[in-house]
Amino acid sequence: MSEAQEELMEGEGEGEEEPEELSPEVQNQIWIRNLVDTEGIFESPVDINITYTREIEVLPLEWNNFEVPPKKIKITNTGHTIIYSAKWGQERPHLTNGPFFGKYVFSNLHLHWGVNDMEGSEHTVDSGRQPGEMHVVMFKSSYLTQEAALKEQDGCATLVYFFKLQEAANPAFQVIVDALYDIQKAGTGKKIEPFALTSLIGIFENDYFLYWGTVSTVSCTHYLMWLISRVPIGVSSEQIDVLRYLFDENGEQLTRNFREVQPLNNRTVLHVNPSSSKYATLLPPKNTFVQIYRCEVIYNKALRFGNNNSRQDKIILKCSYEDDQEIKKKRNKKHSKWELGILRYVFDW
Ligand SMILES: [Zn+2]
Repeated sequence: MSEAQEELMEGEGEGEEEPEELSPEVQNQIWIRNLVDTEGIFESPVDINITYTREIEVLPLEWNNFEVPPKKIKITNTGHTIIYSAKWGQERPHLTNGPFFGKYVFSNLHLHWGVNDMEGSEHTVDSGRQPGEMHVVMFKSSYLTQEAALKEQDGCATLVYFFKLQEAANPAFQVIVDALYDIQKAGTGKKIEPFALTSLIGIFENDYFLYWGTVSTVSCTHYLMWLISRVPIGVSSEQIDVLRYLFDENGEQLTRNFREVQPLNNRTVLHVNPSSSKYATLLPPKNTFVQIYRCEVIYNKALRFGNNNSRQDKIILKCSYEDDQEIKKKRNKKHSKWELGILRYVFDW
């Protein structure tokens, strides 16, 4: 028996209640939470380089309801960015465990881009910019609204997904891109065909980066926990280019909406539950255009599927591989672009 264990044993039976010992994962979770006091005051975004990250183990991040398609999705040109907002028929997608105490629910998803493919991301990777970045903003449900949550140290978290160029268009992202032609003017919005968040963003339970950093507005400073996916989203250069033809509220072309990288100031960038190669900061994007699957379906189950008014609920049971040519033929016939997005979700699941 170790000295520590003996000390614990001695306390027993003397009428004092021993506090329950916390697992190392939960102790680390508390440590991450408390880092905000010393490191939360510095600004985001920052440079991410795997060489300078500190490894840490916490419970796997739990993703709930991200695979459920919303009832409605609206894409809005705010004049600063494109925002995806949605309404679900049931509980909104939310995160639990990982670094989080409590439940963090989905608020919105928005994009950052630049004048050409050499820039666009807010965070840099190994000092280099990526052609764009997607932010998924989450807030702690116990604070009830995002506005209230933004006033708290642990109120909000942002999931970061870098864009990485690939030759083929990303089918799920194309659903958003198609809507952009109708909302080029600032302050306009458009409803789009509902699709699950998981057809656009990859879920990561482990193997991600985390740090604390603020976002300052004119009136105040907000604390945010940043969780950075190691797997970027593959999109084509043509898809990103459509973003550059949106207009801001002055009628100027919105060609660039990312912030400058801020000094780390000795902040800790954590590599949470590392589980794959540590030689590169980012991993390759999941290749959606060759990994499309033919599916058998049964009716009246979990997933909505289709692109017209006669949508039916279906669940995907079996998948088999088919090559890109076949998909193209299929797309021309009955499969819409966004159905391909759902098919990708099945693969990710
Ligand atoms: Zn953002």
